[in-house]
Amino acid sequence: MNLREAVARFRTWQKKPRQYSDQNLGSHCCANCGHEYTGNFCPVCGQSGNEGRITWRSVGRSILNVLNMDSRSLPITLWQLLWRPGYLIGEFINGRRRVCQPPLNTLFAVAVIYVIIINILGSGSDANVTIQGAPVLEYVSGWLKNHPAWGMMSVTMIMIIPTWILFHFAPINTRHSLPESAFIQIFMSSLMLICVLLSHLSEWLVMLIPLYYYITYRQLFGYKFWGTLWRLIASAIVWFSILTFIALIMFLFDDGNNRISLFIGCMFPLIIISVTLVLGYLISRKTSKTITK
Ligand SMILES: [Zn+2]
Repeated sequence: MNLREAVARFRTWQKKPRQYSDQNLGSHCCANCGHEYTGNFCPVCGQSGNEGRITWRSVGRSILNVLNMDSRSLPITLWQLLWRPGYLIGEFINGRRRVCQPPLNTLFAVAVIYVIIINILGSGSDANVTIQGAPVLEYVSGWLKNHPAWGMMSVTMIMIIPTWILFHFAPINTRHSLPESAFIQIFMSSLMLICVLLSHLSEWLVMLIPLYYYITYRQLFGYKFWGTLWRLIASAIVWFSILTFIALIMFLFDDGNNRISLFIGCMFPLIIISVTLVLGYLISRKTSKTITK
């Protein structure tokens, strides 16, 4: 197989990793409730049609079941998340719930792996963040760092708003809802935790974070190169401004002396956020209308 064929096969797998077939549905008499049916699972009690005598194979299967390693297992979910993130998320929000583990389960499982590996690497020692004269900010950043799943989720959740507004008229997954936007970011949190983990191997792997946002959004929303890029840059500007705004508000609680200048400082990120979102929304709406005409 040459390289071109391999790439073509990979692209096909990315778009459709698994075919469901109804060719091999046998007729069964349920071993559990006695109901006669055609299919893989009993429609009355839900038991699999393959249950018979206990064999070595069933022993192996029950061990895999304990480890939650069936076809929607964590390794397969993570594998898909790494190689076809946008397609996987798209399938999930469009109702294909059996393609992977539920996103929140995945995130907390990744967080457990993250904590274990960080402890083995011994790089958790700088967990205490010190910010001079800002106890609230210090407490919040320390807490986020010590709770990787919640921390990563609160940071990526900020992307819900810019994603929802700037990608609202996208060619694929058009007019996605706010809850769908939240689910997209829960998937992204798992992916970002893996990227942060990898960046402990080599610092330049931090570049995986913007790269994965690009790949995911391109697969998920179907804009071309520039359409995806400028919307993502605008989203990043909004994301950063919201974080700055939250940090300034926390400083406002901490610092009694500079309240007025800090309050005025809070206005700048708010202006940047609204200008970027309104402009991005109007441009997206206009271009989507010219495409459909
Ligand atoms: Zn049955």
